[in-house]
This record gives sequence, structure tokens and C-alpha cells, in this order.
Amino acid sequence: MDAADLASLQKKAQDCHACALSKTRTSVVFGTGSPAARVMLVGEGPGEHEDLRGEPFVGRAGILLDKMLRATGFSREKNVYIANMVKCRPPGNRDPAPEEVETCLFFLREQLRLIAPEYIVCLGRIAAQALIDPSFRVTAQHGQFIKKSGVMMMGTFHPAALLRDDNRKPEAFDDFCKLRDRVLAG
Ligand code: SF4
Repeated sequence: MDAADLASLQKKAQDCHACALSKTRTSVVFGTGSPAARVMLVGEGPGEHEDLRGEPFVGRAGILLDKMLRATGFSREKNVYIANMVKCRPPGNRDPAPEEVETCLFFLREQLRLIAPEYIVCLGRIAAQALIDPSFRVTAQHGQFIKKSGVMMMGTFHPAALLRDDNRKPEAFDDFCKLRDRVLAG
């Protein structure tokens, strides 16, 4: 993968005003991690902390995500790349509107083309329904690996949902263990 291409795509996103989210953002939250990652994690959109810092998953949900990643042999510094469906924060942390997701999909598609991950982990319903199956139900289908267009895809709980419901944490951790067993074993 050519890091210069990814940097040039990031610059393009930083100048993007293609949807209404550009009017209320502080930063464009493009993505972070290893450009050579075999695993890409995709959430729905930046929250308040992410919008202020310009980096995905840096609030409480991000700290929880990093803990689960580290405990299973992954980290954004080393071997995963993290991005969102939309690169600008939806006001008040509302769900991104379908037309905003559709407009911003250009950037995610290009990130996927350049990074070419072998695995995509969808964090939460919005990403899983957009990338895996429009009827994807996280509670029923999390942790299942499905091959689509040559990439293994898996949906799991959004870390913000885990902060609201502790009972789901073991299930989410188990999903990352399954990922580790596939990606890092052997
Ligand atoms: S959310 Fe995406 S499409 Fe909309 S302004 Fe931001 S970068 Fe552009």
C-alpha cells in the first residue's frame, strides 16, 4: 500500500464539504492506524472527543476498544486501522443520515482499496448494516464471519453500547478473541 496515496486521500477529506456535516464539524476524522493492517475496524461516525482531537475512538468508548484490542494482540499503533462510515461528527451524536453515509462512502471505499484489509470488523449496527447486510442484527449475528467480495467481515457491538450495557462486554471480547484466533494464530 502506498502511504502517499492514503495521505493524499486524507487531505482530500480534510477539504471535503460534500455533505451538511461539514458545517458543524471541528475536525475531519479520517482514520488512524497501520496502513499495512490486515484488519480494519469501522465505526459509524466521530463523537465529541473525536471531533475535537481529529482521531477516531479516543473517548471512553475508544479506551474500552483499545483495551479489548490490546488484550487480544492488536493495537492501532501496530496492526489495525480504524475509521468510521462518516468522517465528520453528526451533531449531538445522532446517527448519520443514510444520505450522509452514502456521500461519505467514497472515502471509506478508497481507504479499503488502498489498505486492502483481509478482515473488516464493523463496530455497531450502522456499519454492519451498511457493509455486511442491511438487515444485520448485532445482538443475534455478532461474531459471525462472512466473506464478501473476498474480505472476511464480522460485526460486533459498538464500544459505546458496551459502556451502556456491561453484560455485553464478555460477548464482545469473545468476538475479538475469535478475530485473534483467525488473524494472529499460526
Ligand atoms: S462526512 Fe464525509 S462527505 Fe460529509 S463533509 Fe465530512 S468528509 Fe465530506
